[in-house]
Amino acid sequence: MSDRFVTQTIHDRTLDVSLRPSIFQDFTGQAKVKERLELAVEAAKLRHESLDHILLSGPPGLGKTTLAHILAKAMGGNLIVTSGPVIEKAGDLAGLLTKLEAGDLLFIDEIHRLQKTVEEYLYPAMEDFRLDIVIDSGPNARSVKLQLPRFTLVGATTRSGLLTAPMRSRFGLTERLDYYSAGELAGIITRAAGILDVKIDAGGAKEIAGRSRGTPRIANNLLKRCRDFAQVKAGNAPIDAGIADKALAMLEIDEHGLDEMDKRILETLVIKFAGKPVGINSLAVAVGEEPDTLEEVYEPFLIMEGYIQRTPQGRVPTELAFKKLGIQRGKQTNELF
Ligand code: ADP
Repeated sequence: MSDRFVTQTIHDRTLDVSLRPSIFQDFTGQAKVKERLELAVEAAKLRHESLDHILLSGPPGLGKTTLAHILAKAMGGNLIVTSGPVIEKAGDLAGLLTKLEAGDLLFIDEIHRLQKTVEEYLYPAMEDFRLDIVIDSGPNARSVKLQLPRFTLVGATTRSGLLTAPMRSRFGLTERLDYYSAGELAGIITRAAGILDVKIDAGGAKEIAGRSRGTPRIANNLLKRCRDFAQVKAGNAPIDAGIADKALAMLEIDEHGLDEMDKRILETLVIKFAGKPVGINSLAVAVGEEPDTLEEVYEPFLIMEGYIQRTPQGRVPTELAFKKLGIQRGKQTNELF
């Protein structure tokens, strides 16, 4: 399919895709989500039906796209990958939907960013596999009704709170992915090292895992950076805890996985705003990042790790944030800024 709304197809063969598990057995962690999805697949196959529509939510890099690939493969259907912001008009959506075959999966990433008008066309398509589309305008306008094959919509979102209630209610299954434990990430790193033919010991995998922000995509990236370091600076030695530590220190990723931007956010809250509540827009301007990126990428991890709290007045740093920066509350100065 050479459609410009299709951002990827199942035939993609980039390195990232080769690290992507393609069957449930290779997908580490998220045990409950996996169990429920496997059950849904099994039941649908028994009944020779298509899968119910599925909504996957959670921070970036936790495996939403990967699960969509696994689901398509398990169901024996094609996977069409697109994303909310690229579908600009109802006609774009119609183009995608009319190319689907029965049993295909349509994956819409960032589904919370779909245009309202597009979303309304999606409702009957999801519910009754019907598309009512108005073509032309003015006196020539006419409505065309199309019957669609029974497809499955897999929606992914980093911000499930931004999804409209009618949209959310049209999904039969809603699953939230959580951050991975260090043990699960060590398993993912060891598997990826095997695929990439990189030598790593248990200590090296553990070191990278502890600094990957609970996120497989980051774990895989850090593994690749450690591989570079081991090749260039360590005479191609196997990655152990020491090599991993040096490589990650060079990337300014600390022992808890906080990177430069995380530290900047904490310094801004603790020092510049003196620990007082700060609105997301002011924080974004102060650190030079988009508010959406702060909310989707940085904040969930900093909140989970207990560095910041979200209050009705704004974001506030916790005691742990002060401790992390080695600053006593009330003693912070503005000299950094
Ligand atoms: P998302 O769609 O949630 O942003 P992806 O599905 O693209 O995340 O995952 C990013 C990468 O992380 C994938 O290419 C894959 O290699 C890896 N990955 C994600 N989840 C897992 C998992 N459970 N087990 C192994 N690797 C994973």
